[in-house]
Amino acid sequence: MRAAIYRGPGEITVEEVPRPEIESPTDAIVRVTHTAVCGSDLWFYRGQSDREEGSRVGHEPMGIVEEVGDDVRSVEPGDRVFAPFVISCGRCEFCRKGLHTSCVNGDSWGGDNGGGQGEYVRATEADGTLVRVPDRHADDEDTLEAILPLTDVMGTGHHAAVSAGVDEGDTCIVIGDGAVGLCGVLAARRLGAERIIAMGHHEDRLELAASFGATETVSARGQEAVDAALDLTDGGANHVLECVGAASAMDTATDVCRPGGTVGYVGVPHGVNDQGLDMFSLFGDNISLSGGVAPVRAYADELLADVLQGTLDPSPIFTKTVDLDGVPEGYQAMDEREAIKVLVKL
Ligand SMILES: [Zn+2]
Ligand SMILES: [Zn+2]
Repeated sequence: MRAAIYRGPGEITVEEVPRPEIESPTDAIVRVTHTAVCGSDLWFYRGQSDREEGSRVGHEPMGIVEEVGDDVRSVEPGDRVFAPFVISCGRCEFCRKGLHTSCVNGDSWGGDNGGGQGEYVRATEADGTLVRVPDRHADDEDTLEAILPLTDVMGTGHHAAVSAGVDEGDTCIVIGDGAVGLCGVLAARRLGAERIIAMGHHEDRLELAASFGATETVSARGQEAVDAALDLTDGGANHVLECVGAASAMDTATDVCRPGGTVGYVGVPHGVNDQGLDMFSLFGDNISLSGGVAPVRAYADELLADVLQGTLDPSPIFTKTVDLDGVPEGYQAMDEREAIKVLVKL
């Protein structure tokens, strides 16, 4: 089979690799039909995080079950499924707590399981990991493109909103206009937020945020942006969604959080190690920090129900579509900020 391979910073190739096979009774083999390039893939692509050269990439697979192990009960060959960005068993202490990202039987995509950006993947723990799409929606292209973000960014944006405690009638601020921030806007609206202030640096993305439900947008940078947000909220919002991960975004999040409020953070932390987190600003205003890596499997069923009934559609985040051979170009487009998120159709 063919799959995208990381060959070093700035270099993704598509190569012939061994097809994963059933190795354990809980495995399923999925033929990937749709997948995506993620903002988090850019960290290794840019050489800002380590990744083994020659490793398979991608973690947002959707496709058709090709083959299942003897113990798999929830899916069968021919089923349309999608999978979150981590593999989880669904039965351990942490999965039952809704913390699938801490699953003791968990695994990641890549390696022998195949990356999500390839023709086939092996879902170990298929019963816990794979989410089945009902047959009547299984071949509807528009619906599938709206479901695909549930593999990662939509669940992650939702985790930011839930972690920040967003509820009916609330005012919240969303930091970041990437795919996760935009999904954070959708999630906050879905949870009933009355005012949603989206902060970012790209006019076109903030326009999309507005169409997703942001009531106000702030495109300034640095202190000017903080001042604008404080001004709009008369001193900060009680609920702040941090959807970037960079140390500067975390600082902005705490700066625009109202005393006593909560920052829900879901961006993969970068640079926070070197600069440290400004605990004093959290301490001084009793600001809570909640969140972390999003257990998107925990949210998949409720978000899927909304997509299927037509009340949730994150698909406009896909602003470029490529085929498997176009994956390297997809990385480039995201790196150069030409695309918000790249859809890969195999
Ligand atoms: Zn992702
Ligand atoms: Zn588990």
